[in-house]
Amino acid sequence: MKIKVGVLALQGGVAEHLDHLNQIENVQALAVKKPEELNSCAGLIIPGGESTTIRKLIKAYNFKKAIRKFYQQQKVIWGSCAGLILLAAEVEGEKEEQLGLLDIKVKRNAFGSQLNSFIEKAVIPKISDSIQELVFIRAPLITEVGRGIEILYQKEGQIAAVESKNLIGTSFHPELTDSNAFHQYFVSKIRNKIS
Ligand code: GLN
Repeated sequence: MKIKVGVLALQGGVAEHLDHLNQIENVQALAVKKPEELNSCAGLIIPGGESTTIRKLIKAYNFKKAIRKFYQQQKVIWGSCAGLILLAAEVEGEKEEQLGLLDIKVKRNAFGSQLNSFIEKAVIPKISDSIQELVFIRAPLITEVGRGIEILYQKEGQIAAVESKNLIGTSFHPELTDSNAFHQYFVSKIRNKIS
């Protein structure tokens, strides 16, 4: 069955996620610009970018209620980098309300500035048996995880990818690599929900 998967298209790395999703068989990716477009989507990616900007646009375009409703409908959401920050229940040192769907605490820019961007290579068994490139760009660190949150990747105690029943969060950017493993995993999680 063909499924539609949305990418929140307010700011940030939208095109790269759309490209990766469209490479997967029976998936049609949709750049979601209006809340009502979520109705036709089986899953949603909140991309990287600038979380403060995306947060303001989420508010301005009335996405907050719509995304929360989407989540309550048991649909799957993946936040990468800024998207992860927006999903988090708590952001260290910030009071502004996020979407607050993922029971984790994050620290923004914890891996350094843009100039300190780096690529790590690792096997994340749940995602794929092959080595993945993990691209960190002003990435957030996950400093605490709540109950029901599975850690997908950590290095020396630094947590950078998590999963819950209906959510995935990555500090890094799989959409900036040639691998489609994360996107495949995300789509299979969606398919498991709707089958
Ligand atoms: N540092 C950015 C923020 O705090 C996130 C960076 C990214 O998405 N690559 O929003």
